[in-house]
Amino acid sequence: MAPDPDAVAHRYIHVVESRVWAHDRIADDSWTRHFLGHLDGHAYWGIDVPRHDDPSDGAALDLFSFFGRATEDEWLIAGRAVQLVDWARTHRFCGRCGTATESARGERAMKCPACGHTAFPRLAPAMITLVTRGEPGPDQEALLARGVQFRAPMFSCLAGFVEPGETLEGAVVREVREEVGVAVHNVRYLGSQPWPFPHSLMLGFRADWHSGDIVCDPNEILEANWYRKDSLPPIPPGISIARKLIDHWLGEN
Ligand SMILES: [Zn+2]
Repeated sequence: MAPDPDAVAHRYIHVVESRVWAHDRIADDSWTRHFLGHLDGHAYWGIDVPRHDDPSDGAALDLFSFFGRATEDEWLIAGRAVQLVDWARTHRFCGRCGTATESARGERAMKCPACGHTAFPRLAPAMITLVTRGEPGPDQEALLARGVQFRAPMFSCLAGFVEPGETLEGAVVREVREEVGVAVHNVRYLGSQPWPFPHSLMLGFRADWHSGDIVCDPNEILEANWYRKDSLPPIPPGISIARKLIDHWLGEN
């Protein structure tokens, strides 16, 4: 991916630690920049603001706060900026031989000039699933859980990272069993969402309850229950794919 030479306007997502500050000028020309893509006629750049610098004078926002202040497209590109800058910051040395890495030519990678080891941007696939029980209709129930790490008292879908050597569908079945003790089947893919906290890709699924009662893993889940559409607990805000999965279910007959 390369910038269009005809792009007349540029926009710079300055990454201050893990916060973002978008501006039409780069605050310091000497800072490392990463091309992010084009949006609305602008070439977008992620700017690696050195530690202890803050060209925004405190105005930079974390990505949660930036959501809602930017369009969804600009929020996604800001998430890309944070992920690429963080990746470059944490891959300055070769993981095999310890030599300082260099940006590779022609591809998004950090390459070791000594041994040739190449590191690509990190992306951690995670699955998230809404489990339902019963026939479609008003009596169908969804399994929603309150995770131990939730910031707010809300109930959401089950989620977890995919392990090496595992299929996405296998991860859905395993995570649901581990977190709440129930067996599921008929796993269907519904959609995805980049989740730059810090570098996940959320893959959204729907699954049907097969057997078993809810038994929560206390290390992961504070509480989980079956809920009908007309008696939902507090659910996540619109920023998350969890909400989209729940809204999709609510929209079914
Ligand atoms: Zn090396």
